[in-house]
Amino acid sequence: MKSQQIRQEFLDFFESKKHNIVPSSPMVLKNDPTLMFTNAGMVPFKEYFLGQKNAIDKRVADTQKCLRVSGKHNDLEEVGKDTYHHTMFEMLGNWSFGDYFKKEAIAWAWELLVDVLKVDKDCLYVTVFEGAEEDALDYDQEAYDLWKQYISEDRIINGNKKDNFWEMGAQGPCGPCSEIHVDIRSAEEKAKVSGKSLVNMDHPQVVEIWNLVFMEFNRKADGSLEKLPAQHVDTGMGFERLCMVLQNKQSNYDTDVFTPLIREVEAITNNDYGKNEETDIAIRVISDHVRAVAFAIADGQLPSNTGAGYVIRRILRRAIRYGFTFLNVKEPFIYKLVATLTKQMGEYFPELKSQNQLVTNVIKEEELSFLRALDQGLVLLDGVIKNTKGSEVSGKKAFELYDTYGFPIDLTALILSEKGMTLNETEFKIELEKQKNRSRAAAVVETDDWVVLYEDDDEEFIGYDTLEANIKITRYRKVSSIKDGDLYQLVFNMTPFYAEGGGQVGDKGYLEVNNGNVIYIVDTKKENNLIIHFAKSLPKDPTQIFKVVVDGKQRHRTACNHTATHLLHQALREILGTHVEQKGSSVHSKSLRFDFSHFTKLTTDELRDVEDYVNARISSKIPLEEFRNIPMETAIEKGAMALFGEKYGDTVRAIQFGSSVELCGGIHVQNTSDIWHFKITSESAIAAGIRRIEAITNDATKEFYFESNRVYSEIKELLKNPANPQKAIVDLQDENTVLKKQLEALLKDKAKNLKGDLIHEVENINGINFLAKKIDLDQNSIKDLAFDLGNQLDNLFLLVGSESDGKAFLTCYIAKNLVEEKKLDAGKVVRELGKLIHGGGGGQPYFATAGGRNPEGIEKALEESKRYIA
Ligand code: ATP
Ligand code: MG
Repeated sequence: MKSQQIRQEFLDFFESKKHNIVPSSPMVLKNDPTLMFTNAGMVPFKEYFLGQKNAIDKRVADTQKCLRVSGKHNDLEEVGKDTYHHTMFEMLGNWSFGDYFKKEAIAWAWELLVDVLKVDKDCLYVTVFEGAEEDALDYDQEAYDLWKQYISEDRIINGNKKDNFWEMGAQGPCGPCSEIHVDIRSAEEKAKVSGKSLVNMDHPQVVEIWNLVFMEFNRKADGSLEKLPAQHVDTGMGFERLCMVLQNKQSNYDTDVFTPLIREVEAITNNDYGKNEETDIAIRVISDHVRAVAFAIADGQLPSNTGAGYVIRRILRRAIRYGFTFLNVKEPFIYKLVATLTKQMGEYFPELKSQNQLVTNVIKEEELSFLRALDQGLVLLDGVIKNTKGSEVSGKKAFELYDTYGFPIDLTALILSEKGMTLNETEFKIELEKQKNRSRAAAVVETDDWVVLYEDDDEEFIGYDTLEANIKITRYRKVSSIKDGDLYQLVFNMTPFYAEGGGQVGDKGYLEVNNGNVIYIVDTKKENNLIIHFAKSLPKDPTQIFKVVVDGKQRHRTACNHTATHLLHQALREILGTHVEQKGSSVHSKSLRFDFSHFTKLTTDELRDVEDYVNARISSKIPLEEFRNIPMETAIEKGAMALFGEKYGDTVRAIQFGSSVELCGGIHVQNTSDIWHFKITSESAIAAGIRRIEAITNDATKEFYFESNRVYSEIKELLKNPANPQKAIVDLQDENTVLKKQLEALLKDKAKNLKGDLIHEVENINGINFLAKKIDLDQNSIKDLAFDLGNQLDNLFLLVGSESDGKAFLTCYIAKNLVEEKKLDAGKVVRELGKLIHGGGGGQPYFATAGGRNPEGIEKALEESKRYIA
């Protein structure tokens, strides 16, 4: 059965069991401070389990794009080395939100695998939770009794808390689970070693394929468990592993999920898969990583130097490195695989199709720049090797290469071993550990339990209509981190505060306590669908009713920038073309930033057109039309662009200004005329095919024009108010060029005359032509002079002192034959004598210079120089 069909069989089966089939949520999470990527099928449904939102459907099934490369689930180092862990994989799942529980979950899992998909039941094992004393949890007898109706009891295995008690994190929903494992070894091997003894032992052919989680508890900050109000089922089955089983393969990479990619890598790089373990690992790494990177970019996450973008960059670089080292490819090639991937998966995941061009370009550009960095790194490493005495290279130096230049440590080790050298790995690890500790200490956040004051299942957002309200605090908790100190997170029964999201910053403002005192709300963010207000302190009696007020001025400026962003988006599509798509946006009170797909730099005329387009809409005083809580389809009928990245079940809000219609939850002005004026402040490239525009509106533009005008006036004044200031500056520049040339000629003349005088001052000491003298020339002329003299006189030892701008310089020239015969070294001379002028320097044995802060020391240095030839 082909993989496409296997996915469909799974979804059809659960549809027949009355599940609503929903599309995968994005793999990249934009508004979740606790997680960068979806790492399990349950992530999009977290808020249902936490009881913070009511599920629309009680039964749901899907395939979810997951990425396990950071945080709690990190399989990165396994990937490629083993045959069944991936970075990006699909997790098939069925869900019950307070509906069915263990009985149906187990029955249906069995029915699907054995009756529908015809997996041989003699290769299956299941595990049940054995209980845990420290949590006062009993053996999961219920699961055991259910399983034994289907599978012989000697195939039911007890599992410990590590494998069979699933927890979302240190805190939050959790519960016992039952895993289904397959043993796909040959009959011969099965006869030798029983499969039962290999379950959960990291055997590549005895692997877990499906995990059924029965969520019934909540883990509190103090570690204790409380029963959840409703019981849920959360299951996850590895799609690629299921394909391996159903296609009778022994490795995920031998299924049709991967073979087209592997064939392509073979063809492009001229390597064969299956011949040599090292090459095989590299091919697996590349075929795996291209998926993770392509899906991430299609989801809107570009490689970058921080956060999620950095994780993606590292994955791609790992693939490039494996290609570079083991497949011997020194040119970009991974981008070429995108076409194959899109052909294969674009049908079910249309974002791959629509973003194909962008994904390809971004990967290619990243490859080019990393390969360039590798080249540079190789040169730097050469330098390190040359300066190493003995055969061991310092771990500190290797860490520097790794940390500052991104040069991979395994490549360093490999190159050293090829040269018969070693790396001090202990030293390297110590440096790495130090760096990790630094960032870990900064990132530690301690979160207390919520203190619930009032039960409230719906925290209403009323901030579209008002900036003030009388509220009750429904719950609060303290969070402490080194970065921000102690903060209180407050949740209200309703709130006018906008939580950071959709690119727009969170509102600031205050909460009134008694007699005019206030507690400032410093930021507002969303976590698992709760709007959280950050405050430095807590009211004495938090159970009262408080008036809360949003900072209106900042809010208005932010709204101007947000509406301007929509108009800018529209302008770009109108002027540059409909290939322009939003790739990122950041709306603050001071400015706005908009990233979009486009392939060339915008010309001055285009920028002008864009500004004019937006400003024309501001002048036309277009009123806001807002549509709240409408189904996605209705919004699309109005002309809104369908976005990937919306989650199943979301109703949307559409914002319309004339013919600009966007899905948006942000804050906008009532009328475009509120914006007053729009001004682009910069345009640049941030990645291949992605441009960035930064712009300002309203007060900020007034400030901008005022400031530009002030600088302009001052410049004019400095130029003595010429009629044509541009011409005045060009004239000055021209004059400057002419003067520079004249000065150079004069200095050359001066040096020539000096040389004639100097030749007479040279002393012959022990057969060496010696001269030490202070000269009033610039460094370049002194250098010319030194070499000129050296050409004219044999056996020259020359030390010149000079002074300019209160700084002191020493220049030393020694004839090459003296360097060899007398072991003289100009570098050493200037280093030692450099101390007298409070500075240092260096160079080659026959020519070196030093600079320092102490001109007074020049005379002494000249005197001392004689001792080198005495
Ligand atoms: P394993 O012990 O094999 O790493 P797990 O305990 O981490 O698995 P779960 O978190 O229970 O797995 O995830 C549910 C299912 O997702 C697993 O049964 C497996 O089939 C699949 N799965 C988990 N991690 C990966 C991965 N890195 N690549 C591919 N499939 C995976
Ligand atoms: Mg795992």
